Amino acid sequence: AETDADCDVVVLGSGPGGYSAAFRAADLGLKTILVERHAALGGVCLNVGCIPSKALLHTAHVIDEAAAMAEHGVSFGEPQIDLDKLRGFKQSVVDKLTGGLVGLAKQRKVEVVHGHAEFSAAHSVQVTQGDDSRQIRFRHAIVAAGSRTLRLPGLPDDDERIIDSTGALELRDIPSRLLVIGGGIIGLEMANVYAVLGSSVDVVELSDGLVPGADPDLIKPLTKRMKARLGHIWLSTKVTAVTPDDDGLTVSFEGEQAPEPQTYDKVLVAVGRRPNGDQINAQAAGLEIDERGFIPVDRQMRSNVPHIFAIGDIAGQPMLAHKATHEGKVAAEVIAGHKTAFDARCIPSVVYTDPEVAWVGMTEQQAKAQGVDYDKGQFPWAANGRSLGMAYQDGVTKLLFDKSTGRLLGGGAVGPNAGELVAEMGLAIEFGADAHDIGLTIHAHPTLSESVGMAAEAAAGTLTDLY
Ligand code: FAD
Repeated sequence: AETDADCDVVVLGSGPGGYSAAFRAADLGLKTILVERHAALGGVCLNVGCIPSKALLHTAHVIDEAAAMAEHGVSFGEPQIDLDKLRGFKQSVVDKLTGGLVGLAKQRKVEVVHGHAEFSAAHSVQVTQGDDSRQIRFRHAIVAAGSRTLRLPGLPDDDERIIDSTGALELRDIPSRLLVIGGGIIGLEMANVYAVLGSSVDVVELSDGLVPGADPDLIKPLTKRMKARLGHIWLSTKVTAVTPDDDGLTVSFEGEQAPEPQTYDKVLVAVGRRPNGDQINAQAAGLEIDERGFIPVDRQMRSNVPHIFAIGDIAGQPMLAHKATHEGKVAAEVIAGHKTAFDARCIPSVVYTDPEVAWVGMTEQQAKAQGVDYDKGQFPWAANGRSLGMAYQDGVTKLLFDKSTGRLLGGGAVGPNAGELVAEMGLAIEFGADAHDIGLTIHAHPTLSESVGMAAEAAAGTLTDLY
């Protein structure tokens, strides 16, 4: 019955979605239990996703920059890489954050229960750890069970030389020959790390460009840099077989650019992620899961069962941490009785490679496909003094404005720190800013952010000053 619930809210999963939801619920006075099957809190993002990958990408970036200094008259020796120490650094960053979550949960009196949670009825979940099992009755549930790596059918599943992003982040060794299957964000970030650490890396991608879905104008400088850094990039090509033998994994390809079979020491599969909707015994609660494993929700993050909510990767695309945290807060607030909904106009995407690529809102391809009339403002970083001082000439900042309202529809950039630049574009979209609003905002000189102001001025026709 409603009244004999053990808690107001049970949250399944402690990733960015789950912990944000649990913390917000507790802050709003709700008795909250957070269930996590792993020992560490923080989910994929903190343990085997966003955070460790960025720690390694930072290292790769510094190695790259140091090597590039030779052209400016400053030479460093060959990098000496102590893998144990590097792994230790990465893990220390992860531990700091996941340990911090334990403290934050305690402060708020969020009870953390470790174990695998499955629904046992509409108002209860069973949490199992080893031989122990416990029922938690709840008034409301927030499912934040996240996603897992998608496996490529037909590949041997017992060969430890075939790894996923989690295996790649373990950094056990630096293979001399690495194949990355999948030229999306995760595949390219890992390719970037391993190439700089010394592997010879090839990338194979099924579609006709890297980072499918992103604006090709922004991907072009990344592809150029990746071509210089990597061995081969094969587009419109698929892997048909991986044959293990003693001296490596022999990979066969099919497609327009398909090479002859190649042999690698390791193969990283980065072909996408699938939601964990099939692992929570959803039917016991009458909870609907779609054929891909997502839980369909409305703008209040409510599922087909009115007292059960879903957030983060399990609630649909885009599978990004900042979307999950935002949705987590919405779900908690709705449960606390607030009249709120997920109402963001845009969710930024960032590829943390070197150079970075980032965009927010509508891409030019989407505007064209939807028949939206737009004005485009573009600014090349070859005319940005700060970028030149950083020895980078290939950057671009691009903004699209709605022709009928004048408002910013979308924007993006490629170049160092592009991920930081899209924050301003996101704010402009949320505030309904037009090209004059952005162009008349004074950006500090010399900064990369000036390229945003200048792209806006280019669209408004008021651009005069360069450098
Ligand atoms: P998750 O983080 O997946 O957390 C779900 C949690 O639920 C897990 O801890 C899991 O153990 C637990 N769980 C699942 N089922 C159960 C159950 N039945 N019982 C108990 N516990 C359960 N996103 C970004 O925004 N920026 C990035 O830079 C970025 N980099 C990434 C790099 C990599 C290599 C990967 C793999 C992902 C990256 N992502 C990034 C994606 C990001 O990690 C996810 O979008 C984010 O973690 C989703 O959060 P979530 O709360 O939905 O779920």
